[in-house]
Amino acid sequence: MFTRRAYLIEPGKLEVRETELRMQPNELLLEVLACGLCTWELNHYQGRIGEAPMSLGHEFVGRVVDKGGHVAGFEIGDVVTGLPGALDGFSDYMTVAASNCEKVAPGIKPEHALGEPLKCVVTVLRGAAPEAGDYGVVIGAGPMGLWAIQALAGNSLSALIAVDVDEEKLKLAANYGATHTVNPAAGNAIEAIRAITRGHMADFVIEGTGNTKVINDGIAMLKAGRGRLVLMSSYKSAADNLDVVGMVERSVEIRVPHPGYSLSEQDDLRRAVQLLNKGVFRLEGIVSHQYSLNQIQQAFEALEKRPAGYLKGVVIPKL
Ligand SMILES: [Zn+2]
Repeated sequence: MFTRRAYLIEPGKLEVRETELRMQPNELLLEVLACGLCTWELNHYQGRIGEAPMSLGHEFVGRVVDKGGHVAGFEIGDVVTGLPGALDGFSDYMTVAASNCEKVAPGIKPEHALGEPLKCVVTVLRGAAPEAGDYGVVIGAGPMGLWAIQALAGNSLSALIAVDVDEEKLKLAANYGATHTVNPAAGNAIEAIRAITRGHMADFVIEGTGNTKVINDGIAMLKAGRGRLVLMSSYKSAADNLDVVGMVERSVEIRVPHPGYSLSEQDDLRRAVQLLNKGVFRLEGIVSHQYSLNQIQQAFEALEKRPAGYLKGVVIPKL
């Protein structure tokens, strides 16, 4: 069968083309209901990763319309999300290994069921390894930071502190369970953490801004002795003047829980979709922009330029 699919034909330029699909015996054929726009794919869009022409889109949600002969556990009509085999989610239809999929509970809108980024959040949370009574800090209240806050809110922390320069994002963080919010534009964030934690400082800090300069603030927010510095972001360049002195003073543990850190991405996906299905992860207030497949160029321009109020965009092919 044929499907429409978005292709990057040169850096900064996308086009919707027709392509043929073939389903393997271990695969599901999905009608794509939604696919999230991810800042990581700006690397492709801006010409740093891969070679055009290439398809994009890895945060898919789809309805099963056919299944290969070796597939068990899925039925036609199931709504699933999961880990892509290829970047091809910006399409009307796609195929994917059934072993990389999890079922979405009825009642959750497809555009709010993006399993792949939630899987990444689960890997981050497992890296942060929160313990009862910890002081936890999340720097950067973008989608990933907010999802981390939603999940950490149920973890019996002494305080869950969100740090961001955007007051609107801090309001969302507080709504999702942050016990304190700190705006570094309004005052010294490290001193604010000292006051909130009564001098103990943070047991773990999740850095999610992608700004390498912020890593030193994260180090300074940690307690002395095995405080966990959790690097959630993708960084575009090396960090200048990394505070190795502060790292030694505090015996910091640095954890980089990106996909390669996960012992099993399928298992982290399973955990993520369980938490989505039971209402721990809530995307409705975080998905801010929707685009049809025909608006794919506009969608990537918004991802790059971040218009006011932009948090997370999704493509709904037939919007
Ligand atoms: Zn992603």
